[in-house]
Amino acid sequence: MLEPTMDNRRYRPGETGHQDNLDGEVRNDWVLDEVGSLFDLPFNDLLFKAQKIHRIWFNPNKVQMSTLLSIKTGGCPEDCGYCSQSIKFDTGLDASSLMKVEEVLRAARQAKEGGASRFCMGAAWRNPKDRDMGAICAMIEGVNSLGMESCATLGMLTADQAKQLKTAGLNYYNHNIDTSRRYYKEIISTRTMDDRIETLDHVRGAGLNVCCGGIIGMGESRDDRIDMLHALATMPSHPQSVPINRLVRVEGTPLSGSNDLDSFDFVKTIAVARILMPKSVVRLSAGREDMNEEFQALCFVAGANSIFIGEELLTTPNPELAQDRDMFARLGIEPMMAHECPAEI
Ligand code: SF4
Repeated sequence: MLEPTMDNRRYRPGETGHQDNLDGEVRNDWVLDEVGSLFDLPFNDLLFKAQKIHRIWFNPNKVQMSTLLSIKTGGCPEDCGYCSQSIKFDTGLDASSLMKVEEVLRAARQAKEGGASRFCMGAAWRNPKDRDMGAICAMIEGVNSLGMESCATLGMLTADQAKQLKTAGLNYYNHNIDTSRRYYKEIISTRTMDDRIETLDHVRGAGLNVCCGGIIGMGESRDDRIDMLHALATMPSHPQSVPINRLVRVEGTPLSGSNDLDSFDFVKTIAVARILMPKSVVRLSAGREDMNEEFQALCFVAGANSIFIGEELLTTPNPELAQDRDMFARLGIEPMMAHECPAEI
């Protein structure tokens, strides 16, 4: 019988020759080839590496929970090809004006009772008008006074607006790059990737935590996914929160007929994001409603450690709270609190 030796007994995963960051080092100098080599790893090796890095900075059995509320729905002049809220597409959505501060705070209190530690407010705007800033700042102050973290996604910001949000106490600002620079114009024509980057600079400059990620399954190529993750991982500092969304094909949008996404490709994207940005929270965002629990559990193994809870994500469905609670109980997962996010400002 073959006796196990160090050589035949121990498999060293991911021995592909590219530079490792298995010590969880935070690097902003990734090159495209390195990102591509990660995507080339066999699935098990990639997940093993991601899980190993995940455990350096995070408790692997904790997941951060946020709730996202649409505080101003529909009627948006932008033409993001995946979005139900664009005025350019007939999705049957009823537009509504900005919610009242008290209504928003009522929803925040409910979200807190449901276990959310962060409350995110989304408005379907190209950019907020200065006349809206007072109400937005009051919402942020109200959410923080409940002992929750606040997050907003309001479109493009001027440097001055970013500072106003910071002064009001905003913790996070979400502004996704969505996809690669090359593929961006296939998805959105009313603004450029550079517009996005400029707002992210303003957000970072104001001292806010950055929430920035993208969407998988929009017909982008493997190279586009590599480019998108490379762009995120080589920002001046990694976004503290990296949402990875799975396209929700909304009837009436140009992307409603997109091809099915291979589930393994989605999990691999999460794992590569985890390896490239080891201290960032990686959020399993839109698209969970169409993932079974086994698929979601695989995403947690790959390094996802944040989700949105609540039955609606802006305008698309999300799993019921009871369903998420049951899944977490069966997986032994507990909520992660703000002070446990190592990259947070
Ligand atoms: S994603 Fe945002 S900016 Fe784009 S159309 Fe929808 S609401 Fe408007």
